[in-house]
Amino acid sequence: MGRIVYCDGRFVPEEEARISIFDRGFLFGDAIYEVTAVIGGGMIDNDLHLDRFERSLAALSIPMPVPRAELEGIQAELMARNDLSEGTIYLQVSRGVADRDFLYPEGLAPTFIAFTQARKLADTPAQRNGIAVDLAKDVRWARCDIKTSMLLGQVLIKHQARARGYNDAWMVSDGLITEGSSSTAFIITGDGRVLTRPNSQSTLPGCTRMAVLRLCAGHGLQFEERAFSPAEAQSAVEAFVTSASSFVTPVVKIGEVVIGNGRPGPLTSRLQAYYLEAALDPEAAASS
Ligand code: PMP
Repeated sequence: MGRIVYCDGRFVPEEEARISIFDRGFLFGDAIYEVTAVIGGGMIDNDLHLDRFERSLAALSIPMPVPRAELEGIQAELMARNDLSEGTIYLQVSRGVADRDFLYPEGLAPTFIAFTQARKLADTPAQRNGIAVDLAKDVRWARCDIKTSMLLGQVLIKHQARARGYNDAWMVSDGLITEGSSSTAFIITGDGRVLTRPNSQSTLPGCTRMAVLRLCAGHGLQFEERAFSPAEAQSAVEAFVTSASSFVTPVVKIGEVVIGNGRPGPLTSRLQAYYLEAALDPEAAASS
């Protein structure tokens, strides 16, 4: 039996879900999305994800499709109907359906779809062994802070990285790393500081990034928000990426250069453990 998905107001078997060929999400990529991880039957950092969901919609002047409480109810219902204990919940809202025209009419009803993806998120081979990232020119547009479904830049970059024998890519703009193709990039400097680029329109403000920086503060780890170059990254003692679906994943090779001894570093492993502990038991982690 396939999944039960949410499509424009109804829970339906995935085979029965339909949207119009005139949907602006399909024709123009005029849509935003959000992904929340589920582990142990609970959602991780969902408040941060729904805050960003609302910010992305506001940036494009698309109204909230349903009130936030109802949205949380839809997420819970999808988890229950699909018996999801580990995986992700995907939400997407497009501006709506109208005959094809760059200019959109006012008052369109947004199209709202949501579905679950069951998959293993914790203790994956990538988290245990680390990944190799290629360096690729950041070919995206100038508003990377909006989580739009218009992801062709990343689709091409990931595909190219894979073809070149890497697991993923870090993107480079003006001589500086912006972020991973679907993750936030971090390095650890020789003096033990956790370093990541500050939020701006050049990157997606990662929810996992924010959670990890809070964990650094809570556990007395030094961190710094500053952009860094590929050369600085390649001379780092450790490196890792964060995202809702990959948690904290070590990076053991950047371009041609092996990081450290080619194995996940000790600080990265500590952050992995802190993150997982907080995900599985947010209240205990907050009071520890
Ligand atoms: N940057 C980009 C470009 C991404 O696609 C993602 C994941 N959606 C992230 C960063 C990480 O964001 P989050 O931690 O909220 O999943």
